[in-house]
Amino acid sequence: MQKIARRTVNALCALIFGTTTCMLTNCVSNVSAATNVKKIYLTFDDGPDAVYTPLILDILHKEHVKATFFVLGYRSQQSPYIIRRIHNDGHEIGNHGFYHTYIAHKSKQWVERDISRTDAAIEAICGVKPKYFRPPGGILSESDGALVRKAGHPIAMWTLDTNDWKGKPASSIISIVKREARPNAIILMHDGVPSSRNTVQALPSVIRYLRSNGYTFAMLPEQYQGEYIGRKTDTTNYRLR
Ligand SMILES: [Zn+2]
Repeated sequence: MQKIARRTVNALCALIFGTTTCMLTNCVSNVSAATNVKKIYLTFDDGPDAVYTPLILDILHKEHVKATFFVLGYRSQQSPYIIRRIHNDGHEIGNHGFYHTYIAHKSKQWVERDISRTDAAIEAICGVKPKYFRPPGGILSESDGALVRKAGHPIAMWTLDTNDWKGKPASSIISIVKREARPNAIILMHDGVPSSRNTVQALPSVIRYLRSNGYTFAMLPEQYQGEYIGRKTDTTNYRLR
């Protein structure tokens, strides 16, 4: 199959450039190799939680999976040892606001202060400023989005909501993932809500299912810097007002 594709490219090159030794051949091969990798991104919001976050970290460690945790400033200050563990385990830490206050209709100064004090809280604990920002509730205006970017954060939404925050049982979380998993999906789960016990219960099965279907787990990709990660048209709760 690859040989046929390569011959086709060479034939096209011969037609266009008058030669079959074409730079496009390597380029096409590389793109083909890249698209064969089915990446998927696990994200956990609203922690750190003294009970559920360590349990989730245990599972991720056991399964050799890296994820992104969107943490709250005040909870980070309450449990700094968990922030250090997330960081030391090699996971990404994102800014999810200080108190999970929705930023719609807040002043420019309020938004800037909320982002910067959450950054400072996390950086003071583990020495690293969070890269991504995920707005509480996934609600963000265009102007607030500009403020977030100005503060140096790419905005990371999600494309697959497991609805674990609604108290759905583990079986439901697993079903949603099975139904909606796609390459490059950003999966929204929670380590910091009361129903995170269901998330903990579902997570090993979620990981096993995705892995057995050829997915590779990754932290959010840097190449999306400055973009709304996760924007799509079907199952997302993404809102931009
Ligand atoms: Zn949240």
